[in-house]
Amino acid sequence: MGKTTGFLEFTRELPDKRPVQERIHDYNEFVQRYSEQKLHEQSARCMNCGVPFCHNGCPLGNFIPEFNDAVYRGQWEEAYELLSFTNNFPEFTGRICPAPCESSCVLGINQPAITIEEIEKHIIEIAFEKGLVKPNKPTFQTGKKVAVIGSGPAGLAAAAQLNYAGHSVTVFERDEKPGGLLRYGIPDFKLEKWVIERRISILEQEGIVFKCNANVGVNIRINDILREYQAVVLAGGSTIPRNLDIPGRDLKGVHFAMDFLKQQNKRVSQHAVEGEDILAAGKNVIVIGGGDTGSDCIGTSNRQGAASVTQFELLPKPASERTPFMPWPTYPMILKVTSSHEEGADRHWAIATKEFIGDDKGNLKGLKVVNLEWKLTADGKTAGFSEIPGSEKELPCELALLAMGFIHPQHQGLINELAVELDERGNVKASETSYQTNISKIFSAGDMRRGQSLVVWAISEGRECARKVDEFLMGASSLESKDQSYLSRQVQF
Ligand SMILES: Cc1cc2nc3c(=O)[nH]c(=O)nc-3n(C[C@H](O)[C@H](O)[C@H](O)COP(=O)(O)OP(=O)(O)OC[C@H]3O[C@@H](n4cnc5c(N)ncnc54)[C@H](O)[C@@H]3O)c2cc1C
Repeated sequence: MGKTTGFLEFTRELPDKRPVQERIHDYNEFVQRYSEQKLHEQSARCMNCGVPFCHNGCPLGNFIPEFNDAVYRGQWEEAYELLSFTNNFPEFTGRICPAPCESSCVLGINQPAITIEEIEKHIIEIAFEKGLVKPNKPTFQTGKKVAVIGSGPAGLAAAAQLNYAGHSVTVFERDEKPGGLLRYGIPDFKLEKWVIERRISILEQEGIVFKCNANVGVNIRINDILREYQAVVLAGGSTIPRNLDIPGRDLKGVHFAMDFLKQQNKRVSQHAVEGEDILAAGKNVIVIGGGDTGSDCIGTSNRQGAASVTQFELLPKPASERTPFMPWPTYPMILKVTSSHEEGADRHWAIATKEFIGDDKGNLKGLKVVNLEWKLTADGKTAGFSEIPGSEKELPCELALLAMGFIHPQHQGLINELAVELDERGNVKASETSYQTNISKIFSAGDMRRGQSLVVWAISEGRECARKVDEFLMGASSLESKDQSYLSRQVQF
């Protein structure tokens, strides 16, 4: 523990952000760095708890008190080693993770939690600056070949781990560039794409081969992959968006969020945009869906110069603080105000869209909406809603973005061709302990197996899956599992 009284002396402070009026004119990241002094103080707040709940709150089992302590002492090599032991890509999670670790920080019981996510970002960025992040080439080769299908965080983490284990790994990606939703979903203002390029370059130097524009099941035959590779990891993500099948859905101006976001990410990267441009400039934009994807649509619409931006959420407005039904250290479903909300959006809760209204040329001109009354159970859960009579109204809207989540992976093509078993939600069926599908040499990880989730879970799944693939190929694995990391940490004490 760096400073015994740190948590009493310093309060939680986040780094400054570029002002809204400046940042909405570009797509660059806007969260600045701590000064050396501030970083020192923030790491000093960690109490090095006997039972570090943060460690358990993190799906990767990061050694949080230990790296906070190393940061406090300015021991960058040690901090980087601790962080990279459990997390292959802290530069991603340090920027975009909703930080379940912070929700379970013990200090959070009666004070604001440690700024774990920011400290993580500073460790990895300082490690890159100090030249500590070097390609970690395997010391031996097993002679086995593994194909990873999909290059999102799950596929990348699986590939990295399998490569360290000495297997020869090829990543197949149907898009032009690797990264999955990190590259084509999450906007640059949250994660600039040079951060992905920097990591891909390291993975390539470590020996991983990337084949892009390789759509397995379309222009690459799965049977050829099955013949050539001893194991296959399916990490294709959860890509089928939830639709809103109401009158007017076919009007010009109603789009899935990902079609809008992907185009803008491609524009920023100066890649060719496919199809008709979907742009918010000068339009009244309504984002239907209150999650991360919805937030990214707000930030992007404001940057494109929308006339107005409104966000709808079907559920009631959440509490602004923990309630007795979401006690510490659980992840609290409280009101979230993202940086995109700070940039301007009119937020509505408990509202349903009944119809998209068009003009005589088939263009969207408004939304017919109705307010909802939610019934709650005794323990605060939602238990159905009814429409509030007389609350129907029309709102002007020329661009409606559907950001209501993703239902399951794409079945057409690869999954149907493999005839791999699916679970009741339509995800690839593979247990949380084996990651193995009903076809023995085929494994699955990330959103494709778990359903729509988070980057930190995708990395965790990729790592755990890699270990299972290694065991399948070699009979045993020297790759760390989350549980083992935890045990080895206990041994140090
Ligand atoms: C707009 C948006 C914003 C988000 N923001 C956040 C956030 O701020 N923080 C957070 O933690 N999470 C966020 N998420 C969720 C997070 O991005 C995902 O949980 C995570 O990327 C899942 O990783 P994955 O590797 O399983 O799949 P993906 O990232 O979806 O990657 C799957 C890859 O597989 C490829 N693929 C699919 N089928 C094939 C095939 N047949 N052949 C070859 N390649 C194929 C796809 O092209 C894609 O590149 C966001 C999601 C969205 C949509």
